[in-house]
Amino acid sequence: MKITVIGAGPGGYEAAIMAAKLGAEVTVIEKKEVGGTCLNIGCIPTKTLLASADVLTTSAEAEKFGVFNDHTTANLEQIIERKDKLVSGLVKGIEFLFESNGVNLVRGVGKLIDAKTVEVARSDGEALTLVSDKILLATGSVPICPEMFCYDGEKVITSTEALSLKTLPKSMIVVGGGVIGCELGQFFSRLGTKVTIVEMADQILSAEDESVAKQLLRQLKREKIKVLTANGVTDVKVQDSGVSVTLKKGERLEAEIMLLSIGRSSFSKGLNLEEVGIKVDSRGRIEVDESLETSVKGIYAVGDLINTPYLAHVASKEGIIAAENMLGKNKTGVHKAIPRCVYTDPQVAAVGITEKEAQQRGIVYKVGSFDFRSLGKAQIIAKIQGQVKIIVDEKDVIIGASIIGPEATDLLAELTMAVHLGLTAEVLGEVIHPHPTLSEAIMEALHDVHGKSINKVSTRF
Ligand SMILES: Cc1cc2nc3c(=O)[nH]c(=O)nc-3n(C[C@H](O)[C@H](O)[C@H](O)COP(=O)(O)OP(=O)(O)OC[C@H]3O[C@@H](n4cnc5c(N)ncnc54)[C@H](O)[C@@H]3O)c2cc1C
Repeated sequence: MKITVIGAGPGGYEAAIMAAKLGAEVTVIEKKEVGGTCLNIGCIPTKTLLASADVLTTSAEAEKFGVFNDHTTANLEQIIERKDKLVSGLVKGIEFLFESNGVNLVRGVGKLIDAKTVEVARSDGEALTLVSDKILLATGSVPICPEMFCYDGEKVITSTEALSLKTLPKSMIVVGGGVIGCELGQFFSRLGTKVTIVEMADQILSAEDESVAKQLLRQLKREKIKVLTANGVTDVKVQDSGVSVTLKKGERLEAEIMLLSIGRSSFSKGLNLEEVGIKVDSRGRIEVDESLETSVKGIYAVGDLINTPYLAHVASKEGIIAAENMLGKNKTGVHKAIPRCVYTDPQVAAVGITEKEAQQRGIVYKVGSFDFRSLGKAQIIAKIQGQVKIIVDEKDVIIGASIIGPEATDLLAELTMAVHLGLTAEVLGEVIHPHPTLSEAIMEALHDVHGKSINKVSTRF
């Protein structure tokens, strides 16, 4: 079986390796670096920068631990250098995985000719035609930059440029208080930039639990980040000195740089979808069935290109499932439990539905919660802010969970498994959790669903 994959982000590269492991002859076409958005300008670079900010914050608080570290400063250029080195090492790692699994990598731009044929404008100027049994489209997404924002890549930038700035801006307006806006806003603020976040919705992280978003908002404000919710940008002027912005509520803001983080859109430009007969929705996302096959038999699509959450772990999972299906398996149900993570400090992580969604859907539910403040491990590491909140349905099945606090993104794995497997709070609560660890907060929140948390400070006295 011959398979051609267009795009080597997490969706495309994991699909390619899985298909090769299952015995297919695989060619991947990539126009830039392997690893896609996630590895080159997304997940890995942002989290590498945030790791530096974490070290800076911890160093600044060293005295709390009886450790003295008098001259803590950060150097953006060196932080970016570390990120670039780390990314290029991981890029080489994927190239090595391709080689060792016998995946053929072609550098260039791929375009569909028909259900079996892909034409490649190779980076070396040569043209190549590939005929295969199945094709996987995994060309990802690009930042949304409406014209009114005057994007120029210098004063008005997206996350792509923000991750490679060489000098620290004195001030920054961040448009969009979603995951990327909050993460990068907090990063630049911690390094010394005066940051203002403008968010259209009533809360930052609009998809997340209200109380969790409020706690993060309090922290951002504590760090002197100005956050304007229920507001929007109506006019942008780019001048020599920086950017001047008018807001919906009349306020004017000025800053050296404006970071646009208002979302991403699927990228299918030049793929020839219409000519081949591949259906897309009104937002340009390719329509797929449960097996991830498009409206054209034999052509599959995954990741940011389709109508599922724009997340690397979703793209990877879809890539693996698409590869298996292309090779004759019949796998469905990819999206049972999708973890959502925000790497701010404190971190935010959630799976399943929020309390508000449960109310809107008329679900009979119960909540269990536990504050990190009451936990030995949180006190030890001096990260006591935040809580675990678990939502169960009337049968005690865990249908949602939100965590704000230390290592929330790692802690979420247990609750993602619970939602995926349909576990009850009682069953998961019976599991012994190691002491002293942050995971005990989950156990206590599970017990709290039934009013049996031993260590929760009770208000009934
Ligand atoms: C700043 C930022 C932070 C993020 N942080 C996280 C995070 O912490 N966790 C998380 O889960 N997700 C995160 N994401 C989202 C994540 O990066 C994406 O969901 C993921 O990369 C999507 O994978 P993909 O394979 O669908 O597409 P992509 O990773 O976008 O890869 C698509 C690839 O296709 C190539 N390509 C496009 N067209 C062609 C063509 N015609 N021919 C050849 N090659 C082509 C592109 O060059 C690219 O390499 C973040 C995104 C950003 C921007």
